[in-house]
Amino acid sequence: MGKVAINIATGSLQTEEIIVGIDLGTTNSLIAIVRNDTRQPLALRETDGLTLVPSIVHFDEYGNTVVGTQAREMLLTDPARTIYSVKRLMGKSYKDVKDHAGFFAYNVIDDDTDSLVKIQIGDKFYSPIELSSCILRELKARAEHILKTTITKAVITVPAYFNDAQRQATRDAGRLAGLDVLRIINEPTAASLAYGIGAGSNEESTIAVYDLGGGTFDISILSISNGIFEVLSTNGDTYLGGDDMDRLLAEHWANVHNADNTNKLLMQQLRVTAEEAKKHLTTNAQFETEVAGMKLQIDRADFEKLILPLVARTITACANALSDAGLTTPQIDAVVMVGGSTRVPLVKESVKQFFGKEVYDKLNPDEVVALGAAVQADILAGKNTEMLLLDVTPLSLGIETMGGLMDVLIPRNSKIPNKASRQYTTQKDGQSGMRISVYQGERDLVKDNRKLAEFNLTGIPAMPAGLPKVEVTFLIDADGILRVSATELRSGVVQTIDVKPQYGLTDEEVENMLLDSLTHAKEDIGVRALVEATTEAQQMLDTTEKFLSKYADAITDDEVQATRTQIEVLNNAIAARDKDKIQLETEKLNEISRPYAERVMEGALKDAMRGKKIL
Ligand code: ADP
Ligand code: MG
Repeated sequence: MGKVAINIATGSLQTEEIIVGIDLGTTNSLIAIVRNDTRQPLALRETDGLTLVPSIVHFDEYGNTVVGTQAREMLLTDPARTIYSVKRLMGKSYKDVKDHAGFFAYNVIDDDTDSLVKIQIGDKFYSPIELSSCILRELKARAEHILKTTITKAVITVPAYFNDAQRQATRDAGRLAGLDVLRIINEPTAASLAYGIGAGSNEESTIAVYDLGGGTFDISILSISNGIFEVLSTNGDTYLGGDDMDRLLAEHWANVHNADNTNKLLMQQLRVTAEEAKKHLTTNAQFETEVAGMKLQIDRADFEKLILPLVARTITACANALSDAGLTTPQIDAVVMVGGSTRVPLVKESVKQFFGKEVYDKLNPDEVVALGAAVQADILAGKNTEMLLLDVTPLSLGIETMGGLMDVLIPRNSKIPNKASRQYTTQKDGQSGMRISVYQGERDLVKDNRKLAEFNLTGIPAMPAGLPKVEVTFLIDADGILRVSATELRSGVVQTIDVKPQYGLTDEEVENMLLDSLTHAKEDIGVRALVEATTEAQQMLDTTEKFLSKYADAITDDEVQATRTQIEVLNNAIAARDKDKIQLETEKLNEISRPYAERVMEGALKDAMRGKKIL
């Protein structure tokens, strides 16, 4: 039975739920929907008239938060508790960000490890996911206030270059904010959807999306065919944007007036004024004001001189992206302008000149990504029948590997059709068959996932363990049918099976499986580490046993004794399921056996050499 919702504001029945589109930006975030009456995407506007919410969170000493414009005002007065640019930290470890640690005025915890970064505010620690969820919660509340209905479903955009960890972190932030994230889509894809490019089912085109925001620059080359967007290449600079223009102008003014450029408060005042000037110069030739007794002025020509090197860097990146995609400018069918900084006339002109064509700039460049996310949301809601649904796999698909681990070949949310292959090998000498078990789900152990199919690849010719090359290929066709095949490459033995992965799973079941994977994520990481350590230990034990029996003559009694003792210690560690101890004892066994193993191998090598005729 379906659910019926009542809109409290209007008292009317609301039979369909609104799915919103969200641009979770580095500098600004916003939310958009497709209007039911006009069928046009629209950025939601609060009573203050603004669509953009600065992506800034301020924490007071009790842990209460404010988000947006109000938080931005605290940047200067309370820097240690005012978090900006958190998007840069999503899915990152400290090692990933340490080169830019100076960029953050707040405390990014430096534990110099591969674990994910945390931000310290007062005596509390927050993950980037939690901080992003504060922004999303604010956006959700805004939308609910404006639309007078609860919002629970969203499409969120991310940069095309975001990896799985960063996408997952974004998804988790949504979940934490009480949003069911139906899909994560690429920002350039969203921008082209907002313009309706590539929406027709038989359309084929190649487009460039030029995105210059507050602190980042991205250029993406996309190929669109039959409604499927493929990223051909991305390029850019994660530390280049409109903020740099403001900084250049502020420094210029400080120079002109011989002002103290180490005075933080003054420089910040100049930067704020510089941003104002930059925006003014977009539509005017001249800017003039007075700050701290200084007469600040600039005309467009001088401003352009200041920012020219910066704009030139973006054009170089465009050229690199094109050459990476193996394309030249005439092969680009459309150029889409994204990001507030593309309003700067010099930027627009330079891009037009480089690509040799007019650009798409009719939509607000700082809203276009959210508008496109709303279009995607509308398609998912099934309300837009004109456009093609970009189909993706709802859950990851993979096979069982040693120790019952799930090895994913096609991750969830991959586009359909799709193909992926990976090579595996045998564990035992002379192993003639291999069982291929196909699973669907997000958990690390196959026993927690859903088994779809199983078959045996038989007739592998006798070879030592590790020598056969079994290539497993997953192929999903346009109808969502998965074909799994396994081939032993040295002998050519093949086995194939067809499965229909989505069959029998309701949306709710898919949701539950995802939820499950989230709640068990930590536990799964622990289990995976244990299984991997155990598998490695077992292999070490196998090899050692083999060695002891095969080369008994070459090993001393003491060595055998020490090895036997250590084998027992390691077996006990395995039985105790203690990952650290297993690793430690495996290493010890390795140390004990290494001297005689090397001796034996050296001898074998000499024997082999002796057998060879030297001409
Ligand atoms: P992000 O994608 O990084 O969140 P936005 O797309 O919202 O950022 O772009 C923010 C940048 O756009 C800021 O540097 C801002 O100063 C700049 N910007 C906004 N409006 C204008 C304008 N009229 N002229 C020039 N720059 C602008
Ligand atoms: Mg942006």
